[in-house]
Amino acid sequence: MVDLHGQYLKIKPEVDKGIQEVIDTCAFINGPQVKQFGEELKNHTGAKHVITCANGTDALQIALMALDLKPGDEVIVPAFTYVASAEVIGLLGLTPVMVDVDSKTFNVTAENIKKALSPKSKAIIPVHLFGQACDMEPIMKIAEENGLYVIEDNAQAIGAVYTFSDGTKKQTGTIGTIGCTSFFPSKNLGCYGDGGAIFTDDDELAEKLRMIANHGQKVKYHHSVIGCNSRLDTIQAVVLMAKLPHLVEYSAARKKAADYYTLNLKNVEGIVTPEELPNSTHVYHQYTLQVLNGKRDKLKEYLASKGIPAMIYYPLPLQKQEAFKDITRAAESLETAQNLADSVLSLPIHTELTHEEQDLIIQAIKDFFKS
Ligand SMILES: *Cc1c(COP(=O)(O)O)cnc(C)c1O
Repeated sequence: MVDLHGQYLKIKPEVDKGIQEVIDTCAFINGPQVKQFGEELKNHTGAKHVITCANGTDALQIALMALDLKPGDEVIVPAFTYVASAEVIGLLGLTPVMVDVDSKTFNVTAENIKKALSPKSKAIIPVHLFGQACDMEPIMKIAEENGLYVIEDNAQAIGAVYTFSDGTKKQTGTIGTIGCTSFFPSKNLGCYGDGGAIFTDDDELAEKLRMIANHGQKVKYHHSVIGCNSRLDTIQAVVLMAKLPHLVEYSAARKKAADYYTLNLKNVEGIVTPEELPNSTHVYHQYTLQVLNGKRDKLKEYLASKGIPAMIYYPLPLQKQEAFKDITRAAESLETAQNLADSVLSLPIHTELTHEEQDLIIQAIKDFFKS
């Protein structure tokens, strides 16, 4: 599904030198490279503040902790996402309210969010799934009208650009109250272990987020709030600094591979290729087909028999996860989330994918539907 080693070979000198430097100086925790990477990410994304942390799930948890929500407060989250988006809501004793997504973009819509509002609604977590922004302008409008915080789950879409109707462009993760991302190795900007970051333009929130990520302390051994221990390792910061200058080219390589799939697969009967919104770029964390007529699992098996990996993200929508059974408030029908869980199939996509490799995958899919 991904080729991290091929990508590493192209940046090997910077990565190896950087890691060796960390070992030589033994600055494993909070080395100067961590701060430097935070600065570089700030410049890259246009966020006013970047707080690095241990992983993307922590980023979401710390974001929610900083908003002083009370048990029973409701947080709206799409039913079709990775569990982390909603897990942190439950962990903090808040109530996840699952809403349905759009069948074409896989993303949560302002319309569905509106239907889920209640007097207890306090925050929305839009997830920019598979690399494309949610339609953020109407979502931000609903948030403003109803006094809701917006925490963007940008784990899959770092580098995507959203264009507002007045022409303003913003990177995903820098639009809401707080943005969160993950540097898990297979993410679009991945390190060689775990890592994450939090974005905000709000000075006060930034200070609080930084404090919560660091045991609730601003001055060492003086703890003003309950926090956690969530740090980006220096070694991971070094890897990320080697990769960040290539992120634009990585996104372009993914987009090129996606366009090639779509060009060759869009007319194959029995599948639906992913749709691109006019107001968001797509950084294709995943290239996800919808396979019609209940043939998804058979196609996956067929591809596996030809040595082609394909993955189901995600086989169960949140409303079907046992962990959420007793804590969620179902606001509406979650039919699209269920339909997608039953029909999606993601093909290999990464920065090193060649047209020759894609031709084999495309031909195998065509053969499957011919036979
Ligand atoms: C990967 C991911 C996360 C969590 O990131 P980790 O770094 O693995 O904790 C959260 N949300 C989404 C949508 C993700 O894809």
